[in-house]
Amino acid sequence: MAFRAVKGMNDVLSNDSPRWQRLERAFQRQARLYGYEEVRTPVVEHTDLFVRSIGEVTDVVEKEMYSFQHHRDALTLRPEGTAGATRAYVEHKVYARETVTRWYYLGPMFRAERPQRGRYRQFYQAGCEIYGDPGPVADAEMIDMLVGLFRQLGIGELQVAINSLGGSATRQRYREALTEYFTPQVGALSAHAQERLGKNPLRILDSKDPKDQAVAAGAPSMLDVLDDADREHFDGLKRALDALETPYVVEPRLVRGLDYYTRTSFEIRSEAGELGAQNTLAGGGRYDNMVEELGGPATPAIGFAMGLERILLAMPESAAADRAGCYIMPLGSAALPKALTIAREVRARGVRVECDGRGQSLKSQMRRADSLGMRACIVLGEDELSRGVVQLKDLEKHTQREVSFTEIAEQVRALCTVSAEAGGA
Ligand code: AMP
Repeated sequence: MAFRAVKGMNDVLSNDSPRWQRLERAFQRQARLYGYEEVRTPVVEHTDLFVRSIGEVTDVVEKEMYSFQHHRDALTLRPEGTAGATRAYVEHKVYARETVTRWYYLGPMFRAERPQRGRYRQFYQAGCEIYGDPGPVADAEMIDMLVGLFRQLGIGELQVAINSLGGSATRQRYREALTEYFTPQVGALSAHAQERLGKNPLRILDSKDPKDQAVAAGAPSMLDVLDDADREHFDGLKRALDALETPYVVEPRLVRGLDYYTRTSFEIRSEAGELGAQNTLAGGGRYDNMVEELGGPATPAIGFAMGLERILLAMPESAAADRAGCYIMPLGSAALPKALTIAREVRARGVRVECDGRGQSLKSQMRRADSLGMRACIVLGEDELSRGVVQLKDLEKHTQREVSFTEIAEQVRALCTVSAEAGGA
């Protein structure tokens, strides 16, 4: 029986993994430049953690979680990273050790959604969280960091959308205003939205159903019910973004799909590449109540997550990868022992090496060196062996010279380091 991967869950094969690594390295570098340290939390958490933090009446909790019973524990494969990070922050009393905590994470998330381009059931997110800073300057810097990262990756046509969801009191007022607005038009809403009206009217605003969208278009704006402190916070965010010269649009209906957001919420989208409808690269916002709800002291927090698959779809295909590494061709079995020691010496200098140990013909070895994208190639035949030299070929410039055994490792390093630096590897 031939097995296939589970629907919506993808393999990343070795021809694709260099792009993944480039993205992950760029993210990690950017996060560290902004003062974030890595946190790694389990892929499985107690189901209740997600229900409490993400919210019972959300798409994720209602229908997208991979949940299972293991003995007496109700467990779930994490659908996002913030709940687990915050659980760890509270569990390890990190707040008692540092006033502000900046964490980043990277890893697989799981949601049982309908798979399509840019939407999968196992997908990778990289994200950042800040605990202990009420913003709004931290919020603006977080957005700016993301925009900077996307630009570095060559992703164009970026749009930053921001909104403020207010604090708890504002949210309550807004719920009431929405209920009042939607109730007389309940018949025009989808069945799902009708059900949500009594429980969580905010969710109707991000319904994908055109019927709901038509009604929601006239709904009151969250920005009209913000209290003075919320409004000041939002103005502070806009001022800081202006100071950073980061363009944005205000979208009063941007609520995002998770219930925990307070005040700042934002999305970064791109029209570039092959994204299509799933064009939100990253989304985030404040969740000033979550630490306390999960049993810690009242601590403001903000975070974002970005989907790596989507960013890869938006990233331009980089120019042909630069040649790097060295292929060693021993011709004849007498040359093999020396070839193996040269291979070890070159690797010790940090250069990738493949040495033919199968006694293949010169022609097929040349083909392999080329398909591996090697920069250098060492040919060692019986004549060279007797004279203590090798032929060193530069496969990019198509030149060849004779180099002694004592100098070969250093010469290969010099050749390959130059090409790696030029390629930014
Ligand atoms: P969220 O955790 O829902 O706020 O989503 C944050 C980001 O994660 C989105 O902007 C996407 O880039 C990515 N994302 C969310 N769900 C999926 C999915 N099912 N497949 C791929 N990427 C996703």
